[in-house]
Amino acid sequence: MNTKRKTTAILAAGFGILLAAGNGFLAFADTVYVNATSLNYRTAPSTEAELLGTLPKGTELEREKNEGEWSTVLINGTRCYVASRYLSADKPAAGSGTAASGGRAESAQAGAVDSPYVDKTWEVALDSKDTYASFSKISSGTAIYYQNGRENRKGKTVCVNAGHGTKGGGSVKTQCHPDGSPKVTGGTTGAGAVTAAAVSSGMTFEDGTPEHEVTLAMAKKLRDKLLAEGYDVLMIREGNDVQLDNIARTVLANNHADCHIALHWDSTEKDKGCFYMSVPDNASYRAMEPVASHWQSHNRLGDCLIEGLKGKGNKIFSSGSIEMDLTQTSYSTVPSIDIELGDKASPHSDETLDRLADGLLDGVNQFFTP
Ligand SMILES: [Zn+2]
Repeated sequence: MNTKRKTTAILAAGFGILLAAGNGFLAFADTVYVNATSLNYRTAPSTEAELLGTLPKGTELEREKNEGEWSTVLINGTRCYVASRYLSADKPAAGSGTAASGGRAESAQAGAVDSPYVDKTWEVALDSKDTYASFSKISSGTAIYYQNGRENRKGKTVCVNAGHGTKGGGSVKTQCHPDGSPKVTGGTTGAGAVTAAAVSSGMTFEDGTPEHEVTLAMAKKLRDKLLAEGYDVLMIREGNDVQLDNIARTVLANNHADCHIALHWDSTEKDKGCFYMSVPDNASYRAMEPVASHWQSHNRLGDCLIEGLKGKGNKIFSSGSIEMDLTQTSYSTVPSIDIELGDKASPHSDETLDRLADGLLDGVNQFFTP
């Protein structure tokens, strides 16, 4: 939070009686307004705390105390917590969006509106002029960009790509390689093929849970941990269906992120542990652009993620990687990895996903540490 700016704004508005500042926080009773499309109020200063309700934009509130990222307000006489970032001293104009800038549309589907770590969010669509965009066949959906609002904002953006989750994606084919050459390894699509499913539907866990649900839950956990750490996040999807194929997702990451992490679970039934899809050691593949210029950074990102996962006690399969010729890799111009966080037999409880997310966060930190 920008305390200086907020204090100035409050004083300028003529509100605010400063009560105490000796505890390191500013404490004052003042009138504030909800300056977000909607704002959640909770029992405690955490997005994990019980949600009591949601306030519409422009709601007038009596703020008891500004504790930095969170403020206490009285709602019907009950003390509740709201994210300070979405309060303003001035009543917001009716009908206008929150601080969307540069003509970008404010996100209607952004999920973490009460996150104290987010400055603003917006939707990102594929630009047909972007390199490789013309190879995409499904591109009407939008990703969501979260701009970090922390003082220690890192200025690095991680694309979190929840694998699968594109209705109809399995019946559309896209070119495996930008130069039209055939795939050099087998996988979901066999070696030698020149086209593959635009987005496959994914597997089903032994307990009946579809992979796309688990990758989405995982993506949201990773998003929140990355935001808390100071990263900006590009979320490819936040619902069960986004109309973005693997090429569209990759081109969005290329243009709006500093690295791209696609989350998956494998289709084996051995609970074999985590591994990433490394760039095949194949001369023609590694000579093809954009693979030729980027394959080393893809593999380095994968190695860092595996190190991070291992460090948090997650099970690792074999050496931690399997060579695979993937559409994602074949079109990536930023460090980009498909990570398999287990398989059909692996546990995917909240606790397990939390440990995986902690490991991935450590891996991202390692990757960006010079
Ligand atoms: Zn998958």
